[in-house]
Amino acid sequence: MTHRSCPTVSYALRIAKSLFSPNSDGACPTCHGQGVVYTDLAMMTGVSAPCEDCAGRRFRPEVLEYRVAGRDISEVLDMTVAEASTYFTQDAPSKPVAAALSLLRQVGLDYLRLGQPLTTLSGGERQRLKLASRIDGDAPVIVLDEPTTGLHLADTATLVEMMQNLVDAGHTLVVIEHNLAVIAAADHIIDIGPGAGHDGGQVVFEGSPAELVSASAQSANLTGRYLAAAVH
Ligand SMILES: [Zn+2]
Repeated sequence: MTHRSCPTVSYALRIAKSLFSPNSDGACPTCHGQGVVYTDLAMMTGVSAPCEDCAGRRFRPEVLEYRVAGRDISEVLDMTVAEASTYFTQDAPSKPVAAALSLLRQVGLDYLRLGQPLTTLSGGERQRLKLASRIDGDAPVIVLDEPTTGLHLADTATLVEMMQNLVDAGHTLVVIEHNLAVIAAADHIIDIGPGAGHDGGQVVFEGSPAELVSASAQSANLTGRYLAAAVH
């Protein structure tokens, strides 16, 4: 009779990252991670209702059993950027996550929820999200289309400062913008006019903000006049 030793089984706690994404393996199978169930009504606009299986939390119940510093993944995704900054600094410290959240705060997005779908963001919010995501990158040129849209006046100064830091770091920013604080901070302005819509389409000025202001004294350049009023 041969001796058969008992096989040694080692258990390692490996939890797949994909469980913590509502778009992947962790998704509630009933609503496919959307948190809502859509009912198609013939001839009428469809209606949506919170998913009864996950109660709108988007994940399988076994995924929600995993907690870090008392919070499950659906609770983490429900935090605003501001709340998550505190959580990832004090409760579950993570320098890379805290650094990414800090960038979102700098572009004035501290009220967004981490799990907020991109489709619900406004144009200005998307532009600022794009700006935050480019900051640590090496893109030589960054193009932004009206990043101040919907931004509170006080947050515009922070955004301009952030843009300036990007320029100082060697990036070139091409910004389409009506905001006078952004225009005043530019190194070079290309003013398209003379009016809006059908009345525009021509380059009416090209140069620095100071040159635009002085040019407006001799011409009917509207941007220059508004800029002069804003900086004086
Ligand atoms: Zn569900």
